Amino acid sequence: MREVISINVGQAGCQIGNSCWDLYTREHGIGKDGFLQDGLTKPKGGDEGFGTFFHETGSGKYVPRAVYVDLEPNVIDEVKTGEFKDLFHPEQLISGTEDASNNYAKGYYTTGRDIIDDVYNSIRKVADQCDSLQGFLFTHSLGGGTGSGLGSLMLEELSAEFGKKSKLEFAVYPAPQVSSSVVEPYNTVLSTHSTLENADVTFMVDNEAIYDMCKKNLGIPRPDYKNLNNLVAQVVSSVTASLRFDGSLNVDLNEFQTNLVPYPRIHFPLVSYSPITAKSRANHESNSVMEMTNACFEPGSQMVKCDPRLGKYMSSCLLYRGDVINREVQTAVTSIKSKSTVQLVDWCPTGFKIGICYEPPTATPDSQLADVKRALCMLSNTTAIADAWKRIDKKFDLMYSKRAFVHWFVGEGMEEGEFTEAREDLAALERDYIEVGSDSYGNEDDMADEAI
Ligand code: GDP
Repeated sequence: MREVISINVGQAGCQIGNSCWDLYTREHGIGKDGFLQDGLTKPKGGDEGFGTFFHETGSGKYVPRAVYVDLEPNVIDEVKTGEFKDLFHPEQLISGTEDASNNYAKGYYTTGRDIIDDVYNSIRKVADQCDSLQGFLFTHSLGGGTGSGLGSLMLEELSAEFGKKSKLEFAVYPAPQVSSSVVEPYNTVLSTHSTLENADVTFMVDNEAIYDMCKKNLGIPRPDYKNLNNLVAQVVSSVTASLRFDGSLNVDLNEFQTNLVPYPRIHFPLVSYSPITAKSRANHESNSVMEMTNACFEPGSQMVKCDPRLGKYMSSCLLYRGDVINREVQTAVTSIKSKSTVQLVDWCPTGFKIGICYEPPTATPDSQLADVKRALCMLSNTTAIADAWKRIDKKFDLMYSKRAFVHWFVGEGMEEGEFTEAREDLAALERDYIEVGSDSYGNEDDMADEAI
């Protein structure tokens, strides 16, 4: 068994976690109490796949390999008393009594440290139930205090304690439409800086992009967090489907890393998803492999606002699920490669890695998404993602030039120098992306020099 532990931190992390476990349980035929749904003799997904995310207890109950962490009690209390109250073991749900006030420094330096031992013990217990743990899947936001600050501290601890186990994260990138505080740019830059070395792959989820999809594609006039999270959960489910279902043409967390991350810091693949179709429009769309593949190269399918037509692709993983024929995939990929808008770096063979999981997606009843026979989730390492850093760095600079709100962070024991250090690191990250996107040989003279 190659188990994966999901760790959800802070409000966004925990609420996205809820949407994901709702979906996973449905996909595997598990009831809200953790027991098999009526009529099933075993969970769907095959023993290996299913066991990656669920642990079976002696009584025939299936418990998610997951830990929920929040500094304030509300979100976790809802899990403890809500429809999934019997699914999780109480020791997997850890909350404190005081929130992080949207302050990275509180999560990282002060309040977060009060519960880090409990968090660690809980993760250890879940890890002890694994035969051969392959890694962790983190969900948190970058803009708040707990997910960003305590999340960074936890990733650091996991690196120290679990060494080389993979750490993949889904990180919510802030958006003005659903912003919760003015200091989101500070928290985002500080937590990106401190997790840069500790996360192996970071899939960013830009709330603005998801918000727009909910409005445009799903027809929701004023999307709320639940709407956003239903969509995010579909993406997380597609990324993890190959790990959870036996027989898929793609296997473990390491494989994502090997294919997508050419240099340790260049680890922010852009996620695209298709189809995002409302229930009311389901019958109007044919949703062929070619259509889904083309759609994933369109900005409207992307989870982060940026323009890949202006950047270069280093690698891509195309994760198809459902009723998909390999031959059609090959035709679609060949057609994509010939498009002039799809520019590839010249220093790396054009890696389009294909994964097919024959289990179709499931739409939860409360999501506006149509039930479809097939879907595609594309993970592509493109230099265009650096736009996201440019945008947040600019917002950071505006406030930091006046040292606005900095005292709240310093008051929690953070040194002001950490702001400068974090900002310089992100500037270096922007430069790294420019560098990997530049041609290996600028002109003929360079080539001649090299030859000599
Ligand atoms: P924390 O609990 O201190 O980590 O704070 P939050 O997770 O609430 O972080 C605030 C950021 O997360 C803001 O950018 C919010 O817009 C975003 N956010 C909060 N809750 C959710 C959620 O359930 N889903 C999504 N997609 N974003 C959220």
